[in-house]
Amino acid sequence: MHEEPTQPSSPRRRYRLNVVGDFYVEDGCCTMCGVPFTNEAPDLFGVDGEEHCYVRRQPTSARELEVMLNAIRGADTKCIRYAGRDAAVLRALAEADELDVSDHSTGSLRAGAGDVA
Ligand code: SF4
Repeated sequence: MHEEPTQPSSPRRRYRLNVVGDFYVEDGCCTMCGVPFTNEAPDLFGVDGEEHCYVRRQPTSARELEVMLNAIRGADTKCIRYAGRDAAVLRALAEADELDVSDHSTGSLRAGAGDVA
């Protein structure tokens, strides 16, 4: 039986094909904008037919994290989300004005204090 790779702390539902990890595409959110495939991120994303994209591989380097952040910046519907608590990633999201995609409270980052709430 297929087990959906959800994380207990995330209130969001993940699309079923996302690889397990902190970055994921939210289920039912995809408008097939194509952003992940046009901004150098095709290695990190897959597409399920013509229906939905998903995170195929988690970023494993600073370069890949930047690529993932570029995809997040370009995705209009905030469909690519972050369920982790890595302070550096959350700071990068804050700097990109994309903290809305974080599944966790980030009040102190929004306030500019620099620490993860
Ligand atoms: S970034 Fe969002 S809207 Fe665009 S293809 Fe991926 S899931 Fe769909």
